[in-house]
Amino acid sequence: MKLTLKPGREKSLLRRHPWVFASAFQSLDKEPALRQAQDIASGSTVDLLDASGHFLAKASYSPLSQIRARVWTFDDEPVDKEFFRRKIKSAIAQRLTLDVQRFSNSYRLIHAESDGLPGIIVDRYNDVLVLQSTTAGSEFWKETIADLLIEETGIQTIYERSDVDVRELEGLKPITGILRGKITNPQLQITEHNLKFKVDIQHGHKTGFYLDQRENRQRVGELAKDRDVLNCFCYTGGFSINALANGAKSVLSVDSSADALALLEENIALNNLPADRHTSLEGDVFQLLRKFRDENRSFDMIILDPPKFAPTAAHAEKASRAYKDINLLAFKLLRHGGILATFSCSGGVDAALFQKIVASAALDAGTEATIIEHLSQGRDHPVSLHFPEGAYLKGLICVKR
Ligand code: SAH
Repeated sequence: MKLTLKPGREKSLLRRHPWVFASAFQSLDKEPALRQAQDIASGSTVDLLDASGHFLAKASYSPLSQIRARVWTFDDEPVDKEFFRRKIKSAIAQRLTLDVQRFSNSYRLIHAESDGLPGIIVDRYNDVLVLQSTTAGSEFWKETIADLLIEETGIQTIYERSDVDVRELEGLKPITGILRGKITNPQLQITEHNLKFKVDIQHGHKTGFYLDQRENRQRVGELAKDRDVLNCFCYTGGFSINALANGAKSVLSVDSSADALALLEENIALNNLPADRHTSLEGDVFQLLRKFRDENRSFDMIILDPPKFAPTAAHAEKASRAYKDINLLAFKLLRHGGILATFSCSGGVDAALFQKIVASAALDAGTEATIIEHLSQGRDHPVSLHFPEGAYLKGLICVKR
C-alpha cells in the first residue's frame, strides 16, 4: 500500500524524523488511494510518498493513532524478518562496542526509535529479556522479533511487559506474561557497578528497574560519603544502595510504594550494607518534604528522582510547578555545602527548561547554588540525532553555597 503526504509534509521525513502525524496525509476526497486506507491492516507496512509521488520511506501504519505512521526505513528495501535481524544485530553490536557489559549484566538492548525500531523496547536482565511493545507496528512484528532476539542473543527467556498506557492510543490492550521460554525464579538478581539488586520483572515499574539511571546512581553515590542523605522517590533503592556502599552517614529513603520499599530492604541485606544507617519511609514526597521543613530537619544530600510529571509538552506547565515545588523544598532542607541531585524524566520538559525550573526554585528558597555536573540517561539508552525526543532523562548535581 502506498500513501501520499500533503505538499510540504514530507519535510520532517527528509530530516529523517520517524513520525508522520494523521494530519500529514492527503484527505480522503483528494486521494482516492486513501479510501482504501481503512482496509490497511493495523501495523502493516506502507510506502510513504511525497505529493509528487516520490518514495520517502517505509513505515508501520497505526490506523487509530495521531502518530499515524512510524518509519522502519528510509530506503526502498523489503521490511521482513531479515530486515529486523539487521536492526537487532546492529543494536546488540552497539552495546558491545559501548562496553556496557563491563559495568552491568543488565542493560537496554533496544531503545525504540533511537535504534531504528519504533515501539520496541528490550531490556536485558542477565539471562532474561523483557520486551515492551507499544505500537501497532511493533505488535505486528512482535513474534518475529521475539524469535530473532532468541536467535541473536542466545537468551532463551523473554518476558513481555506491554502494559503501558500509550498502547491505548494505538487501540492495543495491555499484555504481560511469558513470550518465550520459562521463568524459573520471578525475582531476578542483577549486578550493576559491583552492587546487586533484586528486580521484579513481573510487577516492578517499567520493565522492572530504572536501568537509565545506572551511571547517575554511581556518580551521586560517590559524593555521598559521610553525608546525611535523603533519597526521595527511591523505588527499590538504586541511589540509597550506592550511597550506603560509599560510606553515607545515614540514608532516609522515601517512596509511596510499599512493594518497592520491601525490595529496597532486601537489596540492603543482599549487599551486606549497614541497615542501622538506613531508614525506609512510606509516604508522599510532596507532603513529607513540607513536614520535614516544619520540623526544621536538614540533610547533606538530597536526591529527587520523581516519576514522569510531563509525558508530553502539553503537560509542561503543571509539571514545572511540581518540579519547582519539590526542588524549592529540597533547597530549604539542605545544609550549606549540601548536594542536590535532581532529575526529570519528562519528555515534555527539556534540559534547558528543567535548569530554569531548578534555578527559580533556588531563587525562591533564598539559596545560592552551583551546578557541578549535568547528567543524562545511560549510554545503553542512546539518542538518535534525528529523534531528539529520545533524550528524556536529565539531571543536575548542585551544591548549596
Ligand atoms: N530513583 C529510582 C527510580 C525512581 S522512580 C531508581 O534509581 O531506581 C519514581 C518512584 O517514585 C517510584 O518508585 C514511585 O513509586 C515513586 N512515587 C511516585 N509518586 C510519588 C510520591 N508522590 N511520593 C513518593 N513516591 C512517589
